[in-house]
Amino acid sequence: KLDNAKGDVEFKHVRFGYNEDRMIIKDFSMKAEAGQKIAIVGPTGSGKTTLVNLLMRFYELNGGEIYIDGTPISQLTRANIHELFCMVLQDTWLFEGTIRDNIVFSKEHVTDEQVEAACRAVGLHSFIKTLPQGYDTVLDDKANLSAGQKQLITIARAMIEDAPMLILDEATSSVDTRTELLIQQAMDRLTVGKTSFVIAHRLSTIKNADLILVMKDGNIIETGNHEEL
Ligand code: ATP
Repeated sequence: KLDNAKGDVEFKHVRFGYNEDRMIIKDFSMKAEAGQKIAIVGPTGSGKTTLVNLLMRFYELNGGEIYIDGTPISQLTRANIHELFCMVLQDTWLFEGTIRDNIVFSKEHVTDEQVEAACRAVGLHSFIKTLPQGYDTVLDDKANLSAGQKQLITIARAMIEDAPMLILDEATSSVDTRTELLIQQAMDRLTVGKTSFVIAHRLSTIKNADLILVMKDGNIIETGNHEEL
């Protein structure tokens, strides 16, 4: 278990295939310092999600190693690793419970003030206050939340979780311009101080990244920042 993880991440000569006879990631190396933002770009099927899956240790590597703060992830349990990351994925995952429950999720000792602060930070607080049940509104089929609002709830959840590292898959689904701006601002706040791996679809994310990984057929074909590429 890594206590007080900083969030340095290094991939060294990583090889991986879902099947032995077809390597998807062929010889992948990169280093991210704690707190950096890494934008992962590339066409569909180029291996962006696979890279993130490997970082989360959802699969075993066929070669090479991934290190978090210098510790090989093969020496960490999946539970250890999952504690180090918060994830905001495209398919927003909410469960049938109140808005508050959905934001607190598995975190212990969270106060109402903290939940409210997270919702203010993502720009959801005033909307939630307009609901008759406020934070006690149950998110079931009848709850009329937009795709954007659902995503903002998962961002508030990640803020409460406050893990040192972040995996973010930028949504491509269409939301209105105002919500898009809210989501963008909320994600920007969320990444502050966290090592962030962002599967990027927005040019602004790519421009602001410390490191851009351009993937093609499972390999980085270019790395650098926006000025260098
Ligand atoms: P997208 O932008 O569409 O999400 P991606 O860059 O994230 O694409 P990956 O999902 O990492 O790409 O896929 C890389 C390759 O691995 C593809 O050829 C895909 O078919 C294959 N692949 C992905 N998941 C699996 C799986 N569970 N089993 C077998 N092959 C897979």
